[in-house]
Amino acid sequence: MNIILFGPPGSGKGTQSKFIIKKFNLNLISLGNILRKYFKDNLNIKKIISSGSLIDNNLVFNIIKNIILKKNNKCGYLFDGFPRNIIQAKFLRFLNINYVIELRICNKSIFNRLLGRRIHLKSGRIYNYLYNPSKILDIDDITGEKLIFRDDDLNISIIKKRLSIYYYELIYLRSFYKKYFLKYKKNNYYFTINADQSINTVTKNIINILK
Ligand code: ADP
Ligand code: AMP
Repeated sequence: MNIILFGPPGSGKGTQSKFIIKKFNLNLISLGNILRKYFKDNLNIKKIISSGSLIDNNLVFNIIKNIILKKNNKCGYLFDGFPRNIIQAKFLRFLNINYVIELRICNKSIFNRLLGRRIHLKSGRIYNYLYNPSKILDIDDITGEKLIFRDDDLNISIIKKRLSIYYYELIYLRSFYKKYFLKYKKNNYYFTINADQSINTVTKNIINILK
């Protein structure tokens, strides 16, 4: 089973991915995590991410190809943050996509969540100062290492830029996948979920769709 999670920054894609891959034994492909972790010393890429822009499609494709070739394909993939535009969606046509789930949430909640987000860089574990705190402030529960802020979460105008890119591309991506499902599956497997609910409720709603 291959699943794509759409949602604006802060909608909870990373948080939900953790539960879904466990439940359905999937490989997680989170482009954001990979870029932050493996390209942390690449100033060019760091600059692009902190400015809220997207990374060049060709680099993204190389990363995706490498992971898909290397990872043992458990029962499929969960894509968090990919595809982010139509060129990327077309690139992914070599895989059979079973579900697209779009997380919807209002901008006010997004700002509240992003400003309180803390992450553990090596594992990609996600916390929130208010809604999902670590046991000890700014310390990862598992390793005891320090949590960090994401550069691109610190500036309101950068968050607004990321949102506008997301909503612009979403119109095309939504229509691409609705047509894709009608053509290849003769049914609609594009679902939207209200992500402005507790972490548990959103997880239950996603699992209900997938099982
Ligand atoms: P995304 O991957 O879509 O950018 P994250 O999963 O990183 O979003 O979540 C963004 C922030 O919001 C994190 O700090 C996370 O702990 C918090 N969060 C995620 N889901 C919820 C929720 N349902 N309610 C409250 N906070 C949440
Ligand atoms: P995310 O962790 O999904 O919020 O992504 C953080 C940043 O990584 C984005 O703002 C982009 O700069 C970059 N990025 C993540 N996924 C992609 C992608 N599919 N295409 C291009 N850039 C990406």
